[in-house]
Amino acid sequence: MASSAGLEALAAVLRPLEFAARDDFAHLERVRDLERSVRIAAETAQRAALPRELRKVLGEIAAAFAHPLDAQSRRSATQRALRRLAPFASPEYAERALAASPACLPGVGPKRAETLIRRGLDSVQALLFHLPSRYDDRRALAKIGALEVGRRATFTGRVLGCGFASWHGGRGRGGRMFEAVLGDDTGTVTLKWFRGGEAIARVVQKDALLVVTGLVKRYRFSKELQHPEVERLESGSEHEAVAARAQIVPDYAAPEGVHPRGLRRAVQGAVSDYADLVPGWLPDRLVRARVLPSPSDALRAIHAPEASADVEALCARRTPAHERLILEELYLLELGLALRRERGARAPGIPISGDGPRTRAALRALPFDLTGAQHRVWRELRDDLSRPHPMHRLLEGEVGSGKTVLAYLAAVACAESGHQTALMAPTELLAEQHHRTLTRLAEGHAADPLRIERLTASTPRTHADAVRAELATGGVDLVVGTHALLEAGVTFRSLGLVVVDEQHRFGVLQRAALGGKAPVEPHTLVMTATPIPRTLALTLYGDLDLSVLDELPPGRQPARTLLFREGEGRQVAELLRQTVARGEQVYVVYPLVEESEKSDLRAATESAERIRASFPDLRVDLVHGRLDAASRAAAMARFESGATQVLVSTTVVEVGVDVANATLMIVEHAERFGLAQLHQLRGRVGRGSKPGTCALVARGVTEGSEARLAALLETHDGFEIAEADLRIRGPGEFLGTRQHGRLPDLRIADLARDAKLVAVARKAALDAVRRDPGLSREPDLARAVRARWGPRLALADVG
Ligand code: ADP
Ligand code: MG
Repeated sequence: MASSAGLEALAAVLRPLEFAARDDFAHLERVRDLERSVRIAAETAQRAALPRELRKVLGEIAAAFAHPLDAQSRRSATQRALRRLAPFASPEYAERALAASPACLPGVGPKRAETLIRRGLDSVQALLFHLPSRYDDRRALAKIGALEVGRRATFTGRVLGCGFASWHGGRGRGGRMFEAVLGDDTGTVTLKWFRGGEAIARVVQKDALLVVTGLVKRYRFSKELQHPEVERLESGSEHEAVAARAQIVPDYAAPEGVHPRGLRRAVQGAVSDYADLVPGWLPDRLVRARVLPSPSDALRAIHAPEASADVEALCARRTPAHERLILEELYLLELGLALRRERGARAPGIPISGDGPRTRAALRALPFDLTGAQHRVWRELRDDLSRPHPMHRLLEGEVGSGKTVLAYLAAVACAESGHQTALMAPTELLAEQHHRTLTRLAEGHAADPLRIERLTASTPRTHADAVRAELATGGVDLVVGTHALLEAGVTFRSLGLVVVDEQHRFGVLQRAALGGKAPVEPHTLVMTATPIPRTLALTLYGDLDLSVLDELPPGRQPARTLLFREGEGRQVAELLRQTVARGEQVYVVYPLVEESEKSDLRAATESAERIRASFPDLRVDLVHGRLDAASRAAAMARFESGATQVLVSTTVVEVGVDVANATLMIVEHAERFGLAQLHQLRGRVGRGSKPGTCALVARGVTEGSEARLAALLETHDGFEIAEADLRIRGPGEFLGTRQHGRLPDLRIADLARDAKLVAVARKAALDAVRRDPGLSREPDLARAVRARWGPRLALADVG
């Protein structure tokens, strides 16, 4: 493990040399066949995919040991060989070589190197891991007469005629192009180049025999290919030449300004000169159990597949070679997370008892009994809090599963031990909502209520100053706020617990910033109602322990979900009428996409007007992101108290609103929401004892949105829905644009496609760190993890 095929080949050369040199060459004469073993090992290493400079040295060594030597020259040859190899025989050399500029590759001049670097292919390594986006199967050569329009094909033919011509594209467009007519015994086809004709003209000449690959198009009554890849067959019979090229040719997504052929040559150069320097870190046991090739063999199998390879599996990235590279990548990531987690677990923390009389009294004073799931999670929290190390726990639970109560109990325990709690919500609205809920819970425990304050950007200046002062002296037990809590100027007397609600809107960095407000790292509880698919949980939150509230408070029933299409507005209006006639309330939600904020706001406003016009005796409110906090809070309060029956809003009610009498959720433009979002919205109704209904109104559906909506109608399981969402939209979309910075920038692995491998890598990483805390026995591996993930995971001081 931990080594590369190249370094192992070098070690095989070094071993006999080092043995011979030991104890001032005392063993020199005792090594049998020194010359032969060194020569064979050097020749073998020379054939490996290693940099030229190194292969040259190996060649010299093989030559120096080609014949039996006398004692004197044996000694000097050994000394010299050891000296020559010394700079190469270390993982640091391999790292440096792989990080070198593409300019060091054969056939890559300074100009091409510069373009590659500008496009992010800035090292040998980057090229090695720039995997083909597809493959051309040149094993099956097409006949020109049988070329199919609309498909890529590879075929051979002789140039019957060629030259420059002008073309006219209508509306005054036009220019010069290079054109060639190619024929075989079944027909002819035209090849066209609208750019770069001069260079092509040097290759494509009359009577030349070409292998052509490209997309076949129809042009009037004939077939043509534009900018195909061509290769000229030099000599020998047509058949032989073609047979020699019957292969599977990788095709790379070339960034703008990079020629695909040039890129392929650069990648092939990287493979032939550097592949054997690529280290493999996976535990041997795992490699053997899954029968995986070495990383260098994997790179070769992917960049230069054998003629017998399975093209479909290659294209789908589902070969053992791909599995090896994907697992290698995920393993380093999971090791990084495991190290972070391990470090967290070792750090000094503030032990807090969750069993004191005040906490037990607060528990008894709750207006309801905890559900079984809440009891279980409360035990997990109590366990964590009582340890002398900071808690790092993620609490997942569907909307309405009762997470806030757990945060409340933890805050009481914290206060009882003499420490403070900060609760951060992603929006002011949510912070206000939490503040109300928590204050109500605290009032229920009148004997010894928790002292709660709120602090957001719109807290009046004087009040904010007072809250800050109280936080500094310890006059406040729990402060609820937004990112304003992160500002300098907020200090705590003793911050013991940080609760972050709806975590996936915050970055790891923000979590770190709040943590930094205390001399000893406080406990962290992250709460989210968005069910996070396991794969993402294991990567984005791999440093956290997981608690799941998988049970809703008694009496809740899942909302009935109905799908309406454009033109079925009357039925939706009828649902609304029936609901308000029963004295229940209604949400109408419009999507808010940042770039079209104005038009969405207009849609919501018009909708509110329409509802007011059709139901003159209803009270209808409109809430959107542009309202100031006070008006928003007032509107929410009116809805909560039942003063308004219909709340029209942009997505602000997505999180945290809790109105038991609201039983109908109308989601307009449902096709524009993500699955997880829709599921959350649906969770807003049916929160009391009355059954809820969610009416999804889809206007203009695409294939993807159709799949999403279908998944939502099928199941109520948030985790299943989240998995489906991740599959349909991919991780970037799933987390939303705001989350991009949180996604690990994986080169090859795909969190949606490779879900199973994430779990495999995760387990291997946890095992490794458990057996070897801090990876102290594998410094090279620890360094590789830091090099790849250190900055992103704040791992600087690990290992
Ligand atoms: P979440 O934050 O998980 O969406 P909340 O903590 O806001 O859920 O709880 C939702 C509602 O359920 C609140 O009105 C809360 O008072 C109520 N609730 C929480 N736990 C229970 C329980 N065990 N029994 C009955 N009602 C509960
Ligand atoms: Mg909540």
